[in-house]
Amino acid sequence: MTKDLESGQDPNAAPPAGARVVVVGAGFAGGSFLRNLPPALRQPGETLLVDRGEEYTFIPLIHEVTVGRIHPDSVRTPITPHTNASYNVSRVEATGVDLPNNILLTSSGPIKYRHLVLAPGSVAAPPPEGLSEYFQTFWSLADALELRRALNRAWHAALSREALPLGGLTVAIVGGGATGVELAAEVAALFDYLRKRTARVPTEEPRVVLLEATDRLISWLDPYFHEMAVEELTRLGVEIKLNSPVTDADAEGVKAGDEWLPAAMRVWATGIQANPLVRDLPGEHEEAGRVSVSEHLTLPGHPEIYVLGDSSVYEHTQLGPLPPTASVAVQQGPYVARDVERRLRGVPDKRRRPFEFFNRGYVVSLGPESGVADPLGVKIKGRAAQALYRSVFLYYIKSSRGRLLISADWAMERTLGRVGFDLDRQPSAVGHRQEAR
Ligand SMILES: Cc1cc2nc3c(=O)[nH]c(=O)nc-3n(C[C@H](O)[C@H](O)[C@H](O)COP(=O)(O)OP(=O)(O)OC[C@H]3O[C@@H](n4cnc5c(N)ncnc54)[C@H](O)[C@@H]3O)c2cc1C
Repeated sequence: MTKDLESGQDPNAAPPAGARVVVVGAGFAGGSFLRNLPPALRQPGETLLVDRGEEYTFIPLIHEVTVGRIHPDSVRTPITPHTNASYNVSRVEATGVDLPNNILLTSSGPIKYRHLVLAPGSVAAPPPEGLSEYFQTFWSLADALELRRALNRAWHAALSREALPLGGLTVAIVGGGATGVELAAEVAALFDYLRKRTARVPTEEPRVVLLEATDRLISWLDPYFHEMAVEELTRLGVEIKLNSPVTDADAEGVKAGDEWLPAAMRVWATGIQANPLVRDLPGEHEEAGRVSVSEHLTLPGHPEIYVLGDSSVYEHTQLGPLPPTASVAVQQGPYVARDVERRLRGVPDKRRRPFEFFNRGYVVSLGPESGVADPLGVKIKGRAAQALYRSVFLYYIKSSRGRLLISADWAMERTLGRVGFDLDRQPSAVGHRQEAR
């Protein structure tokens, strides 16, 4: 068993029997709640974080890990108690909630709570039944590294003049949302980078094909995002196929609309599903399983339970249901910290303020040198949007180590090349800082 040397806490020990506030999930929502804990909850035994992971992954940058622009270690942050030990940490899996008895059920036993802050995030929407084995999802660092390995293998095989099947260097990405668009742009830019670094000609033509069932990319955002994404992806050589729902697949390719596309690498990136932990909660659930929450982000009928981040859906009076994004999650954590503090002080319910979402706008990366954004309603694109994208994420990364490593990865890319795509070596072992660039 490991023991945190700074705080003396052992996150692997059996969880305590209870705490005044129990938080599930150390991600964007849970982490921002914990950073804003009111003083009354910073006392020993008051607050307990439950997370099943040893480390937290900064998910929004995993497509850059796939193409070797960011080292996998740079997006990992260990989940350990802070030096000032303002809360305890238990590394167990939450498995359910016993609502009548205020008990969180976990893989290591029950934990009693007075307030429960549920922020376990989401999982990738799976491919339709029968197709799962032919696609990989794109939701975790493991997914990002799996795709990186496949790209690396295929590229080396094509240069070594190994016989590749038709579509051996084709990547089919299903889903034209922000994840699919960002990934398609990065993979196309990777192929361009690799081509420029070798005089050898691959036996197969590299292709990136983005398959979208509707007639628009990133359809939940202003049409400007679609227009700019189409322009930039086309410039990068991505083949965009709109109105092309994927209906079938096998180990050699996918069927989209009436067309059969040979593709050795197939990624399913059609969105999210709520974490299984929240799917069983009472109340209204939208299509993806996120549970509706009140104006105070609590579960209707259960004011002691807050549900945050990707797990819940909050109906904004002007914007409608808020999307499952980090920008929503990081505003919810501090709000809930303030709301719990008011309730601890005995502020009457009618004086509690509802959650207010401040729409700062959205930014989507379109490869290493471009992007599209609408900060505070102002539309920008190209390098300015890419610069904004980088600064937003450096702001979101709360560990100084993470900021430093990611900035260094971006800065070193031009001189040292891409992690895991060294042309003179065989694909190297993954996941270690010393891995060859
Ligand atoms: C590829 C990709 C790109 C993205 N890009 C962007 C972007 O550019 N901008 C943006 O705003 N958003 C982006 N998002 C969305 C963003 O990552 C999520 O909205 C955000 O992570 C949600 O935060 P959260 O706190 O709800 O969950 P998470 O950050 O996922 O944290 C959940 C935590 O809960 C823990 N956990 C889960 N289940 C259990 C359990 N049963 N027991 C104990 N612990 C558990 C996990 O270990 C994890 O630490 C992207 C997502 C993906 C997949």
